[in-house]
Amino acid sequence: MRTAAREGVPEGGVAMRQRLWLDQRVGFWRRRQPVGGTVDVRALLAAAERGDDDAAADLHDRLCHQGTTTATSYTALPELFSSALRCKPAPYLAPLFLAADNLAAIDRPAGNDVTGLRRRYAAEILELVALTEDCLSLPDLHGDPGSFIYLMQVLLALQDEPTWSWNLSRLAGGEYELLCPECGRDLYAVIDPDTTVITEGYTPAEQQRRTSIDPADPPRTGDATAERLRRLALDHDQPQVAVMVTALFGLGTCPECGSRFSVADTVTADRNPWHPPTFPRPT
Ligand SMILES: [Zn+2]
Repeated sequence: MRTAAREGVPEGGVAMRQRLWLDQRVGFWRRRQPVGGTVDVRALLAAAERGDDDAAADLHDRLCHQGTTTATSYTALPELFSSALRCKPAPYLAPLFLAADNLAAIDRPAGNDVTGLRRRYAAEILELVALTEDCLSLPDLHGDPGSFIYLMQVLLALQDEPTWSWNLSRLAGGEYELLCPECGRDLYAVIDPDTTVITEGYTPAEQQRRTSIDPADPPRTGDATAERLRRLALDHDQPQVAVMVTALFGLGTCPECGSRFSVADTVTADRNPWHPPTFPRPT
């Protein structure tokens, strides 16, 4: 039988530690109650881990509804981490994406200490980074730039890159809405493997005045994030993604007024229209 004396620890110390552990667990479960109760969250997570897309979607709505987190989103993090780390690499892992989404969320409860959580779970997050890198190397991702970009965004969220861990998903969708910084015209940056242009819309009439995006040259300009993403794509044999990244960090021209602007700066400007959550959720 395992005893405190054998471990050289006074009995009182063990009892105190047990009470402390119990208090922490009780507090943990109490904090989780506002979002459907603990059983729901645990059951949904177990089902999501088994590949149940409905459960994954429900869990996503409970923990990161339209990009908004609650205290429960963070108390659930250790279980999300554990669940993700039990998964084999795949293009989409629901617990991994949800954990990243929670970490990257901008709309979170006041006073939430994400920085402290990152420190507390640094070892687990490092393991998740390794898992994500294994996912990025999957042969299944060749010819699937969208899935690769979503995983790049997971990596940025885990590594605490604040801007693009939130704004990269729209690159996977191939378009960003933006406002011309000069004349205020509503515009679209269409960035896919075949097309990198600024347009006024999608109808033939709206696309008549499209202008080409001049791609960035990150090794020359020294933009660290652009070069990091471009290099990540090239290192994983994703040349199409590299092209999209250089367009995203390139220079656009307004078809209305002819002014030139940084596409990346403009799509991340505060006055941009609200956009939906960062990561894909099962539908
Ligand atoms: Zn303009």
